[in-house]
Amino acid sequence: MLSDNLLNTFRRSLLNWYDSNKRDLPWRETQDAYKIWLSEIILQQTRVNQGLAYYNRFIQQFPNVQHLANSHEEEVLKLWQGLGYYSRARNIHATAKTIVSEYNGIFPTDYEEIIRLKGIGDYTAAAICSFSQNKPYAVVDGNVFRVLARIFNIDTAIDTTSGKKEFKILAQSLLDKNKAAVYNQAIMEFGALQCVPNNPDCENCIFNYSCSAFAENKVQYLPVKSKKTKVRERFFNYLVILDGSYCFIQKRTENDVWKNLYEFPLIETTQKIDFSELVLTDSFRAIFKNAGDIELLHNGFYTKHILSHQKIHAVFYTLKTFSTNISINRYEKTFFNKLANYPVSRLIEIYLESQKII
Ligand code: SF4
Repeated sequence: MLSDNLLNTFRRSLLNWYDSNKRDLPWRETQDAYKIWLSEIILQQTRVNQGLAYYNRFIQQFPNVQHLANSHEEEVLKLWQGLGYYSRARNIHATAKTIVSEYNGIFPTDYEEIIRLKGIGDYTAAAICSFSQNKPYAVVDGNVFRVLARIFNIDTAIDTTSGKKEFKILAQSLLDKNKAAVYNQAIMEFGALQCVPNNPDCENCIFNYSCSAFAENKVQYLPVKSKKTKVRERFFNYLVILDGSYCFIQKRTENDVWKNLYEFPLIETTQKIDFSELVLTDSFRAIFKNAGDIELLHNGFYTKHILSHQKIHAVFYTLKTFSTNISINRYEKTFFNKLANYPVSRLIEIYLESQKII
């Protein structure tokens, strides 16, 4: 723990640095908890540059929580398209409805109430409370973990319960409680711009005189994570079935990736197989009455798609058929050139881009 003197020096240095280096971002200009909440959820998914465009589109389409609550989930998913982790988009929609129905459309101000809302954890609740009302809750996001791990040379794994607790206690003790909003912004911005994950410019850092990791040459080893993410390989065979200018799509409804997004009829297999093997599968036969009645127009647009825990090998087969030959009950029929109107995964989007549909 730092002495009062060192603590004050640390805070003052950080705030001075922030004053000279901060980026002008719209969510820093507001105390509207709704806008702060949206920005925080978006920024958990992407970097500031890309997040800014999403934030502006969301605020334009849903300027307040009532607009968001009254929208259709598909509108929200469509706007979220490309960010990944679509459960976050479904959660913000559900939470907006809760705020309207249970809080009269007014964002709650109490940390304990905020953290009970769907999709909001400790980090987001602390961010909303401090940024909107200057309440003394320290934020600990990936940037803060990194800055603290390095300055204080902490090698406790940040993805463990004990690690999270240790960092949270330290962050809370460092927080300038009278300036919680600006202090929290400052330490996050410091991690984002100065104490970056790879090759930070330590020679020109305001903390290099006191940074333990720099002194001990351990910068690139901190912070520590315990778990290696286990990646599951999956094999998706998409059937782009054309019937004149129509094609068939389905909504993913299972609790799996991309829930409630649209896609082409899909056959998932346990390994990579080619089209001659695919037509022999029960799944393929269940879709077509007779495989002989279809014509393969385009043999396999192949792409690999990486998610945080999954590597998806996807192949898109373009087929021509007559709707009488297909068990269409399971699928929606739509104009091929209208596919851009549906919320789809980035994987489907990549395919549509390759076909110049979007
Ligand atoms: S000296 Fe390097 S590692 Fe330490 S806080 Fe500064 S940028 Fe981060």
